[in-house]
Amino acid sequence: MSIKFGPDYVRAIAPYQGGKPIAEVAREFGLDESKIVKLASNENPLGVPDSAKEAMARAASDLGRYPDANGFELKATITAKYGVPQEWITLGNGSNDILELAAHAFVEPGQGVVFAQYSFAVYPLATQAVGGRAIVVPAVAYGHDLDAMLAAITPDTKLVFIANPNNPTGTFLPAAAIEAFLKKVPASVVVVLDEAYNEFLAPELQYDSIAWVKQYPNLLVSRTLSKAYGLAGLRIGFGIAQPGITDLLNRIRQPFNVNSMAQAAAIAALNDTAFLQKSATLNSDGYKQLTQAFNELNLEFVPSFGNFVLVKVGNDDGAGARINLELLKRGVIVRPVGNYGLPQWLRISIGLPEENAIFIAALKSILAAA
Ligand SMILES: *Cc1c(COP(=O)(O)O)cnc(C)c1O
Repeated sequence: MSIKFGPDYVRAIAPYQGGKPIAEVAREFGLDESKIVKLASNENPLGVPDSAKEAMARAASDLGRYPDANGFELKATITAKYGVPQEWITLGNGSNDILELAAHAFVEPGQGVVFAQYSFAVYPLATQAVGGRAIVVPAVAYGHDLDAMLAAITPDTKLVFIANPNNPTGTFLPAAAIEAFLKKVPASVVVVLDEAYNEFLAPELQYDSIAWVKQYPNLLVSRTLSKAYGLAGLRIGFGIAQPGITDLLNRIRQPFNVNSMAQAAAIAALNDTAFLQKSATLNSDGYKQLTQAFNELNLEFVPSFGNFVLVKVGNDDGAGARINLELLKRGVIVRPVGNYGLPQWLRISIGLPEENAIFIAALKSILAAA
């Protein structure tokens, strides 16, 4: 009889499935790495901003020392940009870290965590890692149904995850809907508002979530430098909440969870408004390019407010995997979303114009041959 280690809820975790790395696809399919297009992980196709590269070059000489455990300078940058005190900020090794810290800090085994169907894969993972009970609320039009999420809150529910815009569907909740939800949610339930794609929102859709943090002691807003800021490989994100939440997150995080390179690069990137602007423009142009092609091909897609588009590539449950494999053979990496319960769909990250064009041409030839 073999010994089983750890609690049942840990053994039941299905590992996170990320986008396939370029080198792996090159090996598997015998392709030239330089010809592969990766549109699979919602990374910024412009890569790392030059401002961040320069900051990292300066920081590199000091890597023999531990990072600043409290991230003083980075927090000062966040304070200046968002108008919140240092005591309201938690730095994370990616915003993924913030999501997990929230589950660890607020949820005991057996307690409820509410999130939406077709929402970010890390929410069930973070819930299960602490033995929480996932309360998955059916989506409406591929997005959050906040009224149903409110109704799903049980007396033992401690945490709600809301992604706005949502990944992998790209749906968006207008400010008024979130505010109405915050007004009604019990004060004892922590609400994580995950704004990983906030910077891609058009100016008229932007809303002031920091004002809500000031008003609601149970709200935690999370942000990342991985998407619009082009620093996914460095792993840096942050949470903003009142001290009642922030104190606890900072107690359980690792003392040096954010490395010195990441801190230096994040300071530069957060101040680099020109890069952010360029990324947003590239993204809206790429969105038009992709969705125009989907329209031409008569493919249904979910209107997206992020830097990716969810597109339906067939009507049978094998379609996503099948088209994905054909794309891989042609050196195009996108994200199959069968693990999200969307086996007929693929999620395409918006790339450079020429990358989008390569993907579109490959998709057209695959669909024409079928
Ligand atoms: C990408 C993503 C994140 C976090 O990414 P990090 O790289 O860990 O900062 C968080 N939430 C959503 C919805 C995402 O898509």
